Parts: sequence; C-alpha cells; structure tokens
Amino acid sequence: MSFLLDLLFPRLCYGCSQIGSYFCPECTKKLTTGKLNHLTSSKIEAHLSLFNDSTVKQAILDLKYNFVSDLAPSLAKISAYTLKNRFPLIVEYWRQSNFTFIPVPLHHYRQNWRGFNQASLIGQSLAKLLKLPFNPNLVTKTKYTLTQAKTSHKALRLKNQQNTFSLRSPYNSFFPALSREGSGEGFVLPSHIIIFDDVYTTGATSTSLAKIFPKNTSIWILSLV
Ligand SMILES: [Zn+2]
Repeated sequence: MSFLLDLLFPRLCYGCSQIGSYFCPECTKKLTTGKLNHLTSSKIEAHLSLFNDSTVKQAILDLKYNFVSDLAPSLAKISAYTLKNRFPLIVEYWRQSNFTFIPVPLHHYRQNWRGFNQASLIGQSLAKLLKLPFNPNLVTKTKYTLTQAKTSHKALRLKNQQNTFSLRSPYNSFFPALSREGSGEGFVLPSHIIIFDDVYTTGATSTSLAKIFPKNTSIWILSLV
C-alpha cells in the first residue's frame, strides 16, 4: 500500500525537489540551525529552537494544515540528525540526566479536528531516535484557546495561555501522596523534562506548561522552529 502511495504521490525533497524523501541527505546536512537561549526563569534551563529554515517551516505548515501526517517521522529524523551532529553536547547532557520528552498537548477539540497532535507525533519519533523517554500522558490541556496565529496581540496571546494546562491525576495536587517521590513507580514525575513543541512563537505556551511542574524540575524547551 505504501509502495502504491509512493508511486501515486512521490515524496519530493523540500530543499531540492528530488524524488524520494521529504528531506534528502544533502539538504538535511545544509539545514540552517536556530539558536540556543539560556533562560530566564530558574526552572527553565534553556530553549533550543532547532531550525531557522524556510523548508522546515513549510513542512510543518503542510503537516498541520494540509494534514500530511507522514511528514512527522521525516521531521523527527532531520531533528535527530541535526541534534546529534550540530548539538552533540546537549544530546549527551539530556541522556546523562535522562530527560523525558513531553509534547505540548492540544485540547481534544483541536486534536479531533486535525486527527493528531503534531508535537506528539514528532516528539515520539524524535525521543525514540535519541533514546530518551517520552511521556504524552503527564499533562492535559484544560481550556480551549484561540490558535496562536489568529491571536496577533502579544498581551492577548499571553493571557490566552494562562492556566490552560494541568498535571493529570494521579500527578496533581489532589493526590499528594502519589506525586513526585510518592509510591508506585508509574506515578513518579520525571525530574528532568524537555517540553517539546513544533513552533515557538512568544514562548507563552511552553512557559505556561512549565509552571505546572514542581519547583525543582529541570526544564528544557525544544522547538523545531
Ligand atoms: Zn534535497
């Protein structure tokens, strides 16, 4: 089936239009990387915006708005490649401290509309390629917010993101005995996390998500762009 689909809809490289894959090996090597920002709050150690590249931006748009869901593994692959080759010390640090990937959740309305959460799809493949834990079940989105793109005013965007995430029970404060060092291995919150999102605009989403974790959590933010 996938062979047939490949014949009917061949994958073209976003960089050079060569047939075969969304990002050919040559173009993958040439992607422009983004920057590392040491942050800001005591909890958030740093934010790495992995790419500053128009081809990656276009691929993310196609994944989200043209529903090309098979782009997710390709985006994970170029991300793993770029992290390992351009930011090897960061990957080493994440592995040593056993950072857990946590995708930014979508509210279920939006997820039902799109059929998938792109941050979760890419994050899962990427964590696997980096041999790091992945947990999409720690956090839930409790309030429906306007999409970032439609809310142009920065202050409004920040306001819009407040109190929209919470830890899922049994992690939340209604179950104090089970949180953090609590009983039951499955219920221990990770002490080192990577909040993963496809796009980082104002940082409002990731910052608001970081707030729900206990004070002594080490947090990185990783975004594709
Ligand atoms: Zn190419």
